[in-house]
Amino acid sequence: MTAGGHGHAHGRAHPFDPGAPELPGAGRTIAEGVIELDTLLGGWERVTAGYLIEGPEPVLVETGSQSSVPVLLAGLDRLGLGPDDLAGVVVTHIHLDHAGGVGDVARAFPGATVYVHEKGARHLADPTRLLDSAARVYGPLLDSLYGRLDPTPPERLHVLEDGEAIRVGPSRSLIVVDSPGHAKHHVALHDSLSGVLFAGDAVGVKLPDAGVLRPSTPPPDFDLDQALHSLQRFAERRPTGIALAHYGLLPEPADVLEEADGTLRRWAEVAEAAFRNGEDIAAALATAFESDMTGVPEGHRRKLDVMNGVHSNAAGLQRWLSGREPAGGVTGG
Ligand SMILES: [Zn+2]
Repeated sequence: MTAGGHGHAHGRAHPFDPGAPELPGAGRTIAEGVIELDTLLGGWERVTAGYLIEGPEPVLVETGSQSSVPVLLAGLDRLGLGPDDLAGVVVTHIHLDHAGGVGDVARAFPGATVYVHEKGARHLADPTRLLDSAARVYGPLLDSLYGRLDPTPPERLHVLEDGEAIRVGPSRSLIVVDSPGHAKHHVALHDSLSGVLFAGDAVGVKLPDAGVLRPSTPPPDFDLDQALHSLQRFAERRPTGIALAHYGLLPEPADVLEEADGTLRRWAEVAEAAFRNGEDIAAALATAFESDMTGVPEGHRRKLDVMNGVHSNAAGLQRWLSGREPAGGVTGG
């Protein structure tokens, strides 16, 4: 049975009713023909999401990390997807919390095409350099939390272009929106049927258990102008909702994008002031934004720390500030 045939089939006319999981571990419908799968990074709930887009040719958006693969495959199995039923897997970018499972998923679904930004494709085929860099960024968390990344055979890869349509069926596709900023190999996907935009990390991180939207500005690629431009492109598409990888569907897209724009600019301003004064950027960010975390229980803070730590954001902002051309610049566009 395909995912399109088990009761979530597209074409339902009644408004969508968000509810509790229909089956534990099987995900829940968050928009028409869109199933959110909690991939439970580190065993934590509501930190990493994958999304199954239903139709005659179902497509998975994000695999999560390699450590999430057993949970993800069990979820897809419970949704009725057999090994021949998944038509495609898209990763918004190749960071391990989004793409670490892609080699395993490609193996489990031998008919699935693996879709990735052109700047990410070679790293999925040969992850050696990506894993070296991840080992430097994540340290011991690489093996204790994320796992690694198995190579995907190059003939399984499909390199995405901006504006391209990934087919989910005759009346449904995911439109590719090139969206650098968080990473240079980042795409978002705009669902033609539900109108939901799958934004990866380009809008930021808002864990339901922490409640605050924060920008995600990690090294080595973060670029403020590109990130702001990507937000602008999202707004122009007038999505009906924004689905974050970390975590879930945000229903007021225009407000969310405006908030993301303002938040990103504030973080960059604080970082730039610290940078110019020779101060520690992480300490400045922590001081400026610690009130965001007031009232967030300690256990939930830890999730946000791992997913969106001040140190990772500071390192990305530092690198961006250091690499900027003094006048005019070469960034943007
Ligand atoms: Zn991420």
